[in-house]
Amino acid sequence: MGIATINPTTGETLRTFEELDDMALDRKLGKAAAAFSRWKRTSVSERTQPLAKAVEVLLAERERLARLMVEEMGKPIAAARSEVEKCAWVCRYYAENAERFLADTPVETGDARSFVRNLPLGPVFAVMPWNFPFWQVFRFAAPGLMAGNVGLLKHASNVPQCALAIEEVLLQAGFPEGAFQTLLIGHRKASKVLGDPRVVAATLTGSGPAGSSVAALAGKLLKKTVLELGGSDPFIVMPSTDVEAAAKVAVAARNINAGQSCIAAKRFIVHRTVYARFLEGFLDELSKMKVGDPMSEETTIGPLATQSIRDGVAQQVEDAVQKGARVLTGGTGVGDRGWFYAPTVLTDIPKDARAFSEEMFGPVASIFRVEDCDEAIALANATDLGLGSSVWTEDPFEQERFVNELEAGMTFVNAMVASDPRLPFGGVKRSGYGRELARDGILEFVNRKAISIA
Ligand code: NAP
Repeated sequence: MGIATINPTTGETLRTFEELDDMALDRKLGKAAAAFSRWKRTSVSERTQPLAKAVEVLLAERERLARLMVEEMGKPIAAARSEVEKCAWVCRYYAENAERFLADTPVETGDARSFVRNLPLGPVFAVMPWNFPFWQVFRFAAPGLMAGNVGLLKHASNVPQCALAIEEVLLQAGFPEGAFQTLLIGHRKASKVLGDPRVVAATLTGSGPAGSSVAALAGKLLKKTVLELGGSDPFIVMPSTDVEAAAKVAVAARNINAGQSCIAAKRFIVHRTVYARFLEGFLDELSKMKVGDPMSEETTIGPLATQSIRDGVAQQVEDAVQKGARVLTGGTGVGDRGWFYAPTVLTDIPKDARAFSEEMFGPVASIFRVEDCDEAIALANATDLGLGSSVWTEDPFEQERFVNELEAGMTFVNAMVASDPRLPFGGVKRSGYGRELARDGILEFVNRKAISIA
């Protein structure tokens, strides 16, 4: 499949795009290098001006940008508008805080003056996924540009109009030509960009195989990488919590973005004494979800983004059923056009089912019953992924255990996992390494230069 806008609501191809040829790609890399040589000399406060302006541009363009997401990847319109607003938030956050995050850090050494200065690195290659086509890019671009780097975006091949719109927004906000460029290329050309000596580092948000491929080449070339990969987040419910409230949030946490979120709750691990109540509450709340046209204000679950995502989810469910899992609701596609899949609940999932060990990137909840806190932790950690985790308990002793023992980059207690510019975001195990957002995110792509003046 080339670079194209294919409407997931109808399956119709709306626009196709030519991939950049090698000469055009080379010109863009040259432009990035030239832009960096100027941008790195600006002060953080100068860089803040276009970023603050980007907030205004995003909010002014909110409806148009939101509609692009609906058209290209099927996100319901209300959620798409919120995504644009969240991009404005991350721009505002770094416009207000970057200077503080990047300030020199004094160190006592006995010399006259010692400190750490955060200097830019150069052009950074960003490989991004389609699921939050604006947010994933802005959470890299805002800190990256503030740090004095320039960005080269290779977006997912199914969201080219979103990719082009992001470059336009940043130009309109006043970032100089070449500071942030979209490269319309398929993933086979990613190695050409990363291999180019003008590109100094890479960040990839996407699947494990894509992450390994980029990290392998970057490792060979000794270029820094940050990887934000998949998740199979546990959502643990213990007896001391408000089970009905937990069930309501659980449905939202599973079905956000039609389940196509790396931090969506995917495995619900419920204490046996509250299992029946949780299940009842979950099914009741799920019945209120509205699957349908993502342009409708009422829709809460739109189509899956591509046919292959929809087919992949359907195969994972079929495999689980063949191996003995029970489907309490859903388990089928919806309608005869577009790539809709019914919100689904699986129980009794055997260990050899793919649904037990693989990430489920669609509206399919896997619900497990456990005896106690030990079994909950063991099951939660029985995956090679470790992105987020949500635990529901009022017991301070259990809270401490989950915080310390869950193998995840994030643990939210009595709340669903959500990305927030103020909190570092990232995973452990095969969910990747490095952090985005907060102070941690801006410091990923800087030269933390040690300076000592005798
Ligand atoms: P994907 O196939 O890995 O695609 C993501 C990006 O990587 C796209 O731009 C894709 O380009 C590119 N890509 C694919 N194979 C590559 C390769 N061998 N070398 C270089 N680039 C390559 O992932 P997806 O299916 O679109 O997204 C879903 C996955 O992303 C899920 O596993 C999800 O959990 C994960 N995700 C993680 C986070 C996080 O923050 N941790 C956030 C969102 C999503 P093409 O489109 O041209 O193939």
